[in-house]
Amino acid sequence: MLENPKNKAQITRLRLPTTNYQIQTTNNYLCGMEQVLQQIENLRKEIEALHIDNVKALEEYRIRFLGTKGLVKTLMGEMKNVAVEQKKAFGQTMNEFKQFAEAKYEEWKNETSNGQQSAAAEIDLTLPGDTIPVGSRHPISLMRNRMVSIFQRLGFAVAEGPEIDDDFHNFTALNLPENHPARDMQDTFYISTNPAWLLRTHTSNVQIHEMQKGKLPIRIVTPGRVYRNETISARSHCFFHQIEGLYIDEQVSFADLKQTLYFFVQEMFGKDVKVRFRPSYFPFTEPSAEMDISCLLCNGEGCSVCKKTGWLEILGCGMVHPKVLENCGIDSHKYSGFAFGMGIERPAMLKYGIKDIRLFSENDVRFLKQFTGAV
Ligand SMILES: [Zn+2]
Repeated sequence: MLENPKNKAQITRLRLPTTNYQIQTTNNYLCGMEQVLQQIENLRKEIEALHIDNVKALEEYRIRFLGTKGLVKTLMGEMKNVAVEQKKAFGQTMNEFKQFAEAKYEEWKNETSNGQQSAAAEIDLTLPGDTIPVGSRHPISLMRNRMVSIFQRLGFAVAEGPEIDDDFHNFTALNLPENHPARDMQDTFYISTNPAWLLRTHTSNVQIHEMQKGKLPIRIVTPGRVYRNETISARSHCFFHQIEGLYIDEQVSFADLKQTLYFFVQEMFGKDVKVRFRPSYFPFTEPSAEMDISCLLCNGEGCSVCKKTGWLEILGCGMVHPKVLENCGIDSHKYSGFAFGMGIERPAMLKYGIKDIRLFSENDVRFLKQFTGAV
């Protein structure tokens, strides 16, 4: 029939365009069932020539042939126009075509989903993954944790207290009565609406709170932030961090203090570091001492950091003054104790080579990022 030149023009007209599949429903079109059958045959050939290998093309195929407005449905709708005696044959042909189109769809569907699975199987799991950005501990926290863990191994517990406290806990109880000249060394900030309250100048206020609880013996370290009315520079700040220690029991001696601090220094700075005690004065300890370690940078030779002395001052310490014990309701004839205190910034600066104390509190990410993974 295709060879028949008389029909050729008509068949060409009936062939559905590939994009717009409007079925012609004019009476001309229905002039013979032969033409509809020919149209179905053409569509079958078209489907056979197709090669679908992706989800998008498959969906286009489904809409075009099998959708609610697709070719199969539309051609089926022609049944009403078919002569009664031809309805059976037409129905059979249509059913075969429908099954053929559906079977092809299922075939391609399986192929494309298998293809997706095999693409997934090709992912190389041995390749490094995307990096998850991790934060870092602040160098002050790193140093504080390290100090605390050393004292915890000696049986010291961590105690914390208020940063805003009253005059008694920060000064008076520590044998620093009003008008005492030593207060000048620790000028601080007062709460303007209530000058009886101040920002603590050391974490010793926590020691007072602990002693007032009356539970003995006491063996604590008190890490925390403290405040001083100081000019901000590369070497000093109006706030910084301290860790203090307090041990009160019967028959605690200066030998216990020294042994505790020796252990700390060796764990903290290494076995080869030398230690020396210098007599000093603090109102809250008697006797009092300052402890130096041999310079970590020049090994005692003398450098700019240790000001050519070969020694670095690291902490202040002493035996708790009997008056301080009495101020907190502890019998100073029965009990004795030692206390020590040191800054956290300075050892952190030494360990990490930080030259400006202000960097600790500027929240500069470029600075903080350098401590990723540090311990
Ligand atoms: Zn030095």
